[in-house]
Amino acid sequence: MKRSIPHRSLGWFTYWLKQTIDLIFPPRCAGCNVTGKVWCEECNDRIIPSKRRSCTACGFPLEKGIICSICEDWPNRIHVRSFAHYKKPLSSAILKLKYRSDQALANEMASWLVSIYQRTGWRADCAIPVPLADVRLRQRGYNQVTLIATSFAKELKLHIFTNALKRVRETQSQVGLDRRERHVNVEGAFRADTRIVQDQSIVLIDDLLTSGATLKNCAIALLNAGAAQVYCLTVGRA
Ligand SMILES: [Zn+2]
Ligand SMILES: [Zn+2]
Repeated sequence: MKRSIPHRSLGWFTYWLKQTIDLIFPPRCAGCNVTGKVWCEECNDRIIPSKRRSCTACGFPLEKGIICSICEDWPNRIHVRSFAHYKKPLSSAILKLKYRSDQALANEMASWLVSIYQRTGWRADCAIPVPLADVRLRQRGYNQVTLIATSFAKELKLHIFTNALKRVRETQSQVGLDRRERHVNVEGAFRADTRIVQDQSIVLIDDLLTSGATLKNCAIALLNAGAAQVYCLTVGRA
C-alpha cells in the first residue's frame, strides 16, 4: 500500500501541472491555430476520410483490383488502412507533430487510429511504430510516430515495442524519386528482432502513407523475423 502513495501524489501533481501550463499557455488547434484545444470541432468536420480502394500489400490507392503493379509478385498480403487524406487541416496537424513533440496531439491522432482499428476486426497483440533514421532521431530528439503508437497501444491495451524494428541502412531522401524508385530505395532498409516479433500479430503505425514503400519494407522485415500477421495504420494518405 505504501508504494501507491508517491504514484498517486505524482498523478495529482502532473494533473495540476498540466492545468497550470494550459492556463498560461493555452493549447492551440493543430489545424487552424484557434486557442482552446489541440484539435477543434471545425477542423474535425473538415477531415476527408480515406475510403478509396488500395493495394493490400502497400496501401497505394488503386482504381481497380486488389494489388498494385509493384507488389503483384509479392506473395504476402498485409492490410493497410489510412484515417484520412493528407489535406488541410489534417496535413497541418501531421506537420506540427513532426516539428514539435506534443503528446496531447499524438493522443488525438491515436484516437483516430483506434476508431479505424475497431472497425476492421483485426486482432493484434502489439503495436510497433515505423522507426526514424538514427540521425533524424538525434536531430529531432523524438519519433512522432512513437508518440502516436504508444497512445494507440495504451488505449487498446496492446503491447508496444519501440525497439523491435530498426533501420539498418541509411536511405537516400525519397524526394524526387518516382514510386518504383522509392520502393527500391528502401528495400532491405529495416530489420526486426525475432525475439520480440516471433508469432506476434502486429499493428505497424506510421503518420503518413505516400508510396507505400516504407510500410511494405517494414512489413517484410517483420514477417521475415517470424511475425504472424502485420496490419498497417497511417494517419494520413498522400
Ligand atoms: Zn481547428
Ligand atoms: Zn502495392
